[in-house]
Amino acid sequence: MSPNSSDAAPSLQALKEKMVAVGMALWDRGLILGGEGNLSLRLPNGNLLVTPARACKGRLNTRQMLVLDPLGNLLEGNLQPSSELLLHLQIYRQRADVGGIVHAHPPHATGFACAGTGLSVPLLAEVSSLLKSVPLVPYANPGSIELGEAVLPFLEEHDALLLANHGVVAVGADLDTALTRMELVEQFARVTLITHMLGRQNPIPGRFLGDLEALREKERRLPYPEENLPYPKVPRILLSELFEELIRRYLKKV
Ligand SMILES: [Zn+2]
Repeated sequence: MSPNSSDAAPSLQALKEKMVAVGMALWDRGLILGGEGNLSLRLPNGNLLVTPARACKGRLNTRQMLVLDPLGNLLEGNLQPSSELLLHLQIYRQRADVGGIVHAHPPHATGFACAGTGLSVPLLAEVSSLLKSVPLVPYANPGSIELGEAVLPFLEEHDALLLANHGVVAVGADLDTALTRMELVEQFARVTLITHMLGRQNPIPGRFLGDLEALREKERRLPYPEENLPYPKVPRILLSELFEELIRRYLKKV
């Protein structure tokens, strides 16, 4: 790596490769299946790089990526843009600091979204210092203008949202940060679910929350600290086996 390489703006091709890598990471972690989910990032010139509709985001290639202007007009590419384009456009319009958006359907977090329950109990210091909480956005149909409008009131205070009866959207200064937040939401949902199974929640005492919130405010608009690292593969079968074993043990107890 040259001394100045971290200062140079990444090329369009490098950013397309980033989109491919993040799509694969979402699929590897079981956060999307089939044609679910969509990704976008804001290019240095203000235009947007967006994933195509319907395609499996775990098997994308750089030729499928679309370049659009900030109003959503297609500038490059011959596929149909993501069905959630309006949601992405509204978020970029509302939050000038957002450089990347990840929308996915992670199963545990989506379970809470279908139960009509936001993730608001401060159970994990990492969540409190990085996300604060993950509120529930009222239902609107996927792809609708109403969905884009429904998220707006939550965006000033939050960087990850549950979409009722649908999934999760996470934003960040760049795509890596948005992906990290998406992973954290799903982990938070898993841990919260386990506390429900155990029949008990022991939140972080209120006197500590101010410091965690201050840390979040300091860092929430910063870019991801490392660039262009490969994403480690997650042994998703092992993770799901572990979770199923926990459920089996829980069911034996009740
Ligand atoms: Zn969706």
